[in-house]
Amino acid sequence: WKEKASKPDWLKRTVPGGDKYVDIKAKLRELKLHTVCEEARCPNIGECWGGGDGHTATATIMLMGDTCTRGCRFCAVKTSSAPPPLDADEPANVAKAVAAWGIDYVVLTSVDRDDLPDGGAAHIAATIAGLKTATDGGLLVEALVPDFQGDVGAVRTIAASGLDVYAHNVETVPRLQRVVRDRRANWEQSLATLRAAKAEGARVTKTSLMLGCGENADEVVDAMRDIRAAGVDVVTLGQYMRPTKRHMAVAEYVTPATFAALEAAAKDLGFLYVAAGPLVRSSYRAGEYFLTNVLR
Ligand code: SF4
Ligand code: SF4
Repeated sequence: WKEKASKPDWLKRTVPGGDKYVDIKAKLRELKLHTVCEEARCPNIGECWGGGDGHTATATIMLMGDTCTRGCRFCAVKTSSAPPPLDADEPANVAKAVAAWGIDYVVLTSVDRDDLPDGGAAHIAATIAGLKTATDGGLLVEALVPDFQGDVGAVRTIAASGLDVYAHNVETVPRLQRVVRDRRANWEQSLATLRAAKAEGARVTKTSLMLGCGENADEVVDAMRDIRAAGVDVVTLGQYMRPTKRHMAVAEYVTPATFAALEAAAKDLGFLYVAAGPLVRSSYRAGEYFLTNVLR
């Protein structure tokens, strides 16, 4: 894979630092929590973890280990067809640790576990229920879940767990699904799970697209129209960034102006909330938009 151009200025951000960040990191080690925010060296940590001053503190926690049964071409997570078994204590431990951390909104994400009969749905649902109990329902929970190979039973388990936002990422436009995602994933299957989540009672559904994979703006608008037609409430658009040189190259660095135009198009399609921008990640300041736009 060859990269098309060097990183534009709008993507350059300093790696987070400072006393507050160091304190939070120390607390996380004590609580034995693994955040995607740190592991992906996400440039938004300062904003998401910040809290205070009218901001909602948000973080993303990874469940079910660090090894995925799939191998998407944009993703740096380790792959194996037989990852280690689940840690049965994880739901209770995560619930205790996140409650002690005191954030307002948590995003739970996970690797795909096609090796498990339910894809890990019961494990994720137990974590959500544990978080709600440990915080007396005060913590808002978003779960960014796999496609469960289209298994509606698994979708139902998550949708009925008490979560606030059911998220599953379609990642890219229909034409590029085979290029970008693992061969077991596809557009229709992903949309079907989002549709099912809504039908099974999920309060808010959400998905994300990475831009800069070779799609054009019309394809993005068409994709968002299909997504909206599947009843999805929230969409986020961000720039794809290549994790290492072994991963899929960036086809294009989409300009902030194009992101703004696509955000306007998404709003016209009637989404409850849209976040779009070069540095937007699916969980970017998720708590804040949820509280200010969805609960309002
Ligand atoms: Fe990465 Fe998710 Fe694809 Fe697994 S399914 S390789 S964690 S993007
Ligand atoms: Fe963490 Fe997501 Fe915010 Fe990045 S955008 S800091 S991964 S919550």
